[in-house]
Amino acid sequence: MNLVSAVHKTSKEQPEKIAYHFMGKDTNYGEFEESVARFASALKGLGVGNGDHVALLLGNTPHFLISLYATMRVGATVIPINPIYTPDEITYIVRNGDAKVVIALDALLPLVKVGVTAFPNVEAFIVCETAPETAAKLAELESPVKEKVRSFSMLLASSSADFEPTELDPEDTAIILYTSGTTGQPKGAMLTHKNLFSNARDVAEYLTISPEDRVITALPVFHVFALTVVVNAPLLNAATLLIVPRFSPKDVFEIAREKKATVFAGVPTMYNFLYQFPDGNPEDFSEIRLAISGGSSLPVALLHNFEDKFNVRISEGYGLSEASPVSSFNPLDRERKPGSIGTNIVNVENKVFNQFGEEVPVGEVGELVVKGPNVMKGYYKMPEETAATLRDGWLYTGDLAKMDEEGYFYIVDRKKDMIIVGGYNVYPREVEEVLYAHPGIVEAAVIGLPDLNFGEEVFAYVVLKDKNLTIEDIYEYCKEKLVKYKIPKQIEIIEELPKNTTGKILRRSLKEHALNK
Ligand code: AMP
Repeated sequence: MNLVSAVHKTSKEQPEKIAYHFMGKDTNYGEFEESVARFASALKGLGVGNGDHVALLLGNTPHFLISLYATMRVGATVIPINPIYTPDEITYIVRNGDAKVVIALDALLPLVKVGVTAFPNVEAFIVCETAPETAAKLAELESPVKEKVRSFSMLLASSSADFEPTELDPEDTAIILYTSGTTGQPKGAMLTHKNLFSNARDVAEYLTISPEDRVITALPVFHVFALTVVVNAPLLNAATLLIVPRFSPKDVFEIAREKKATVFAGVPTMYNFLYQFPDGNPEDFSEIRLAISGGSSLPVALLHNFEDKFNVRISEGYGLSEASPVSSFNPLDRERKPGSIGTNIVNVENKVFNQFGEEVPVGEVGELVVKGPNVMKGYYKMPEETAATLRDGWLYTGDLAKMDEEGYFYIVDRKKDMIIVGGYNVYPREVEEVLYAHPGIVEAAVIGLPDLNFGEEVFAYVVLKDKNLTIEDIYEYCKEKLVKYKIPKQIEIIEELPKNTTGKILRRSLKEHALNK
């Protein structure tokens, strides 16, 4: 079984079941399957098959789902790319990823026109019409652009729906995910059909996703968290996706209320936005049986505030692109521990290792490593990086963690974000947790800056809710809560923290900002 055959099976057994809701329109599994089959025929007609790569420059629209499943169906590999990346970032991925076909949103037509000459190895660009004027724009294209650019909807309409799924090799690369690239150039994590299928299946089992579920798909679908948790896991289980084109608290509450959503998944910044939203009505979340947080650490104060206000239980999990992504979750049938990323999901093993690759005793901090059918086969065209990350059958995550006696894991911080003040380790997360617990602070990020005397010093950026709060007040508050070397030596109040599109706070840009002052 793989994702393609599983969705095919649902469409045969329950064709009337709603697969997704998008912009006021429902699409059932029968219709979704037909679009996937048609688009797979179209891709085959363009010469796309096993071993070829198809780049998707798409956001949260049905085009993404159809392109994803159709590409996998012809045995080719999908490369999802954030459509709002800069032209340089997109160029790097399209070239490094050896894309043969690019499928892009119509808003990217200007980039596509340049791409026709800039990417000679790309044989076809497929443009998805979302705006009414796009069809006319496509009709007006001139040579040599015209020859390489196709319309998504015309391809769909003119291709045969007669395309049964064929056998897929479970070890073939289904998707290459370019990871944020916190160090050096982005790396393409190659995930196989087995990786994607097993993680979607195991996550769904852990979270008890069923056909009765209506899952809010507001996380960006090109990111692995969304891909497995709010796209593949629900589709695998005949649930319904409630697609939110772009996250906003208003749209999330609206769709939750109107469609009686049962599952919401978000990164901590989304929870913060929802919590702070003045019109957030707890009633809107009354059917939500499961709220999932992942992607970065959920401040414990935010978890409690959110749960008290909306009367839902948040289950925090952990994952990374290289693990398809999920490796642990707080269980639904046992104790949930705030601040913890939970326990091993089924079939996946997490351990905490020291620098010699040995397991550390319970409670001690080390590097989190993962083993299971969800672990990638390697980085595309990067054997050295692969060998450094996959060692003795374990995936080294680069995250520092500890485990308690009941097998619950706690992320301490990213290895490279640790600050060393006069020989003492300071984990930004623990200082951030203290700042988040202050009622006058909305958000906080802590970084380390070079210091002549102590090697490094702690620097905190805060966004205020209470505009009367002064730096002196925050400093005094920290003094009560933290040992001296962990107290931020400098605190700066800013309007907003820089974040990437998946809501992760960009500590690196904050560091650059602080260093350039
Ligand atoms: P990505 O590959 O973009 O999904 O990023 C993976 C990274 O996100 C991990 O290596 C962690 O540093 C971070 N991360 C994911 N989930 C959590 C979590 N629940 N708590 C803390 N960090 C997390």
